[in-house]
Amino acid sequence: MKDLLVTDHLTKYFDIGHGQRVHAVDGVSLAIAEQEILGLVGESGSGKSTFGKTILGLHDKTSGTVTYRDELLPARYVPRDFQRHSKNMQMIFQDPYSSLNPRMTVGEIIGEGLKLHTRLSTAQVRESVADWLVRVGLEPDHMSRYPHEFSGGQRQRIGIARALVLEPEFVACDEPISALDVSVQAQVVNLLYELKASMGLTLLFIAHDLSMVRYVSDRMAVMYLGCVVEVGPADKVFFEPKHPYTEVLIGSNPEPDPRSERSRPSTAIQGEIPSPVNVPPGCRFANRCPKVMDTCRDNTPELIPLTNTGDRAVACHLYENP
Ligand code: SF4
Repeated sequence: MKDLLVTDHLTKYFDIGHGQRVHAVDGVSLAIAEQEILGLVGESGSGKSTFGKTILGLHDKTSGTVTYRDELLPARYVPRDFQRHSKNMQMIFQDPYSSLNPRMTVGEIIGEGLKLHTRLSTAQVRESVADWLVRVGLEPDHMSRYPHEFSGGQRQRIGIARALVLEPEFVACDEPISALDVSVQAQVVNLLYELKASMGLTLLFIAHDLSMVRYVSDRMAVMYLGCVVEVGPADKVFFEPKHPYTEVLIGSNPEPDPRSERSRPSTAIQGEIPSPVNVPPGCRFANRCPKVMDTCRDNTPELIPLTNTGDRAVACHLYENP
């Protein structure tokens, strides 16, 4: 499959005054193929959400590039850029409570993009909104209600309809189920999966539930302190992790399937993630790594392909050729 979206050394720093900066995303190079689901995992504060928002122009880029269908996207979006690119690229947000305007009806929320980006008549917009409400498992007459009248799972369905109504090609799903009750998480994931298949979507699926990411994703990328430390086919990364951080992250993740539980290493993650303001030199995982070596504290490992795999890459001195 052809690459749909490529980031090259994408970096996003946030100035916090006194000459200090939060290194939220620090030189991430990833490619997402057409109709692929790339899962992005890591602890809170690893930069996953900032990466997704920077791709979509919701944050200005500090440096590096994002290329979409071979077109270089602007470093800093102006309204015209959102107008142009939001037809193809959309985001589903983590919190269905705060991401929907409480003063707008569901019909206005879902139909807003159609009014901005198409020439559909009011009647046609209503028709499309009604159609999308049914597609996400709600009722057409829900369009006259307000977000507070719905449960969390229903609100996320409204958020999904809002993101997909323009029929984008690429959707970044930012922790789309983490604010929902466990009982409805699988329903929302299955809905996303069905829509992905029927619409031929390409998804960036950001989450900290590794089991869920493995379940939905074709490939999985692991972020630590602003950097990607491992990427590869989701099953291989989950069951045969190479990077020491991936090992402890997966080892500390509860696995609902006892057969899977027995088949992977069980480890607990030690220590605190370093400050993204004072990023340590060398490998950023060195202070927590059970396999740390002298070279790790001074030399930064690059994300390089693993020999003999062709489809995996790891940023760790353990895997560098002598
Ligand atoms: Fe551990 Fe060194 Fe690999 Fe970093 S480079 S993950 S400290 S072994």
